[in-house]
Amino acid sequence: MTVKELPIWPFRQTILDTVAKHSITVIIGETGSGKTTQIAQMLQNAGYAKEGCVGVTQPRRVAALTVARRVAEEMSCDLGQEVGYRVRFEERTSRMTRIVYLTDGTLLREMLDDHELSAYSVIVLDEAHERSLNTDVLFGVLKKLVKTRQNPLKLILTSATLDSAKFSSYFDGCPVLNIPGRQYEVQIVHSQENHERDYLAAAVDTALDIHLHQAPGDVLVFLTGQAEIDKAVKQLGEAIAELPEDSCADLLILPLYAAMPLELQARVFAPPPEGCRRLIIATNIAETSITVDGVVYVVDPGVVKQKTYTPATGMESLHVVPISRVQATQRAGRAGRVCNGKCYRLYTTQFFEREMSESTVPEIQRTNMLTAVLYLKSLPLDIDVLAFDYLDSPGSEALEDALRQLLILDALDRDGHITNLGKRMAALPLEPSLARSLLAAADFDCLPEALTTAAMLSAETIFSGNRGPVQLLRNEADAHGRQGGLSEQGRATLGDLMKEGLGDHILMLRLFQGWERNGFSSKWCKEMGVDALRRSLLVGFANRLARRMPRHNGYKTLNERATLAQLHPATARIAADEDGLMPEFVIYYALIATAKVFLSKVCPMNTEWVEEVLPKLRNINVERLSGGMTTRKAAKRAEFAGQLSENPVAKEAPAATA
Ligand code: ADP
Ligand code: MG
Repeated sequence: MTVKELPIWPFRQTILDTVAKHSITVIIGETGSGKTTQIAQMLQNAGYAKEGCVGVTQPRRVAALTVARRVAEEMSCDLGQEVGYRVRFEERTSRMTRIVYLTDGTLLREMLDDHELSAYSVIVLDEAHERSLNTDVLFGVLKKLVKTRQNPLKLILTSATLDSAKFSSYFDGCPVLNIPGRQYEVQIVHSQENHERDYLAAAVDTALDIHLHQAPGDVLVFLTGQAEIDKAVKQLGEAIAELPEDSCADLLILPLYAAMPLELQARVFAPPPEGCRRLIIATNIAETSITVDGVVYVVDPGVVKQKTYTPATGMESLHVVPISRVQATQRAGRAGRVCNGKCYRLYTTQFFEREMSESTVPEIQRTNMLTAVLYLKSLPLDIDVLAFDYLDSPGSEALEDALRQLLILDALDRDGHITNLGKRMAALPLEPSLARSLLAAADFDCLPEALTTAAMLSAETIFSGNRGPVQLLRNEADAHGRQGGLSEQGRATLGDLMKEGLGDHILMLRLFQGWERNGFSSKWCKEMGVDALRRSLLVGFANRLARRMPRHNGYKTLNERATLAQLHPATARIAADEDGLMPEFVIYYALIATAKVFLSKVCPMNTEWVEEVLPKLRNINVERLSGGMTTRKAAKRAEFAGQLSENPVAKEAPAATA
């Protein structure tokens, strides 16, 4: 499809006219209509990128990268010249850059240095329907900025299906442009039974069935994550290999997920070899962020992996949950882009109607608000966090939880003002606890060790097969019956590394050091280095402390709602005292609810150290922290005084009807 054939093309002039007239514009168009790739180019051609750049945000890193590359191609320039991208830890822009694709988180962080975003003349918040946390925060912040910036700033929100009335009223009645899609018909086939448990097998079977029995056309299968996708790719590959030769056309199986190297992702955009069907197995990323042309069949298991945070307990859960009806419709729509298509839903009509919710709960209402509140507090906008103008409020519980944690981490003072430490934490593209640990480590003179540990913590798992070191040493088989697979020598070394008994963080450091030295030598750095690192971790993770129950080895978290939890089975060895009791205090990286509640990635702390930080956890006044106490109380008082003076009689003589 050429650019001029895209549905957005005929609307060029309307878009430019509207943007010229209004400071905020909402543009709604089907996925694939050209919003992400074309709008920025239209604006540039119309002269908007002369004074500042056109910045286009994406909720996902991969989307920012692939789209920037695509647009550079369309404009026949090298990536990083006129068109570039900026994402966490990676950027390709230059002084010539006029169009920047960047993640919403990156734009928020840029605001910390350049509060007015003076480098930009237009900001496009793309994929607004995804309602990612950072995009939602940007809604509120940019709405404010558009009104106050001297140099005019244009704000454009683009989205697939979205509640346009709600957006327009939130953005002060801004215009909404609808780009009608060129959507072919999609026949929807529901299965007779639900495949909630065996959706992977059902998806593989369905995909294979399509390949064997349906007319040519690419197939797009939605699954929930990398591990699942790898498994499906393997199973399909094996099944195809067993078929007699010439029994079907060639099949090219292409996985697509965010953690994949960019070069491999790019394969889904390359035209397929002649007469070959492509089967793309993707995460949610293919729902709206990335459009793969040529898809005629969609296989939708109706599930997605979703992270949910409970502020009261600080507990995080990662579960596979049903998608919403809006998402199901989006997924089906992916089959109707080139011709009439077909969507196979691996669930019943009843499931669609009764079990699925109408729309997805925005991330801001189910996530840890720690980082977002730190950003809001870092901006010189005098924001009362609890009373801020959110499109959908995260709720006071989540906000209060974040405020309390930021106080404990020294990012806020007791009046809710950002501290210098807080500013430095916000500038580091890390979660606040890790950032705080690194800053403490600089003071404790153990920064290299802390950097290593921070990097190791950011990896989901460091041992193969998702097992912990204790399990590996016992050489336990995993859930699939596979043995540990460590050599004699490997086990001896790992056992040696764990002798210290200082839990996960220190073991990670030891492993890295051992690897770095290339011979797993058992000469470890000085004892002092270890203890300084643990103290730095305590400063950063004072918001995630747990205390052992008296006389037994369960732990209770030291936050608002003390939660009982066990050490995760994958925890590295932690030495017990002579009475066989575990250390009184530990910090943890995450509180995870699966079958039981577990503390994951645990580091023991010395009681004396913890006693120094405990006072910070007491007597926290959240309203003062929010920044609203003085203004809100003053407003109430004024309101009350106003009532008295406006209507003095009513106050004295009750109305006749009363
Ligand atoms: P929207 O943002 O409205 O969903 P896009 O601007 O992303 O639409 O896509 C417009 C068209 O450009 C689609 O037909 C899509 O397939 C194509 N396209 C987008 N990115 C790439 C890419 N990296 N390689 C090839 N084609 C692409
Ligand atoms: Mg898009």
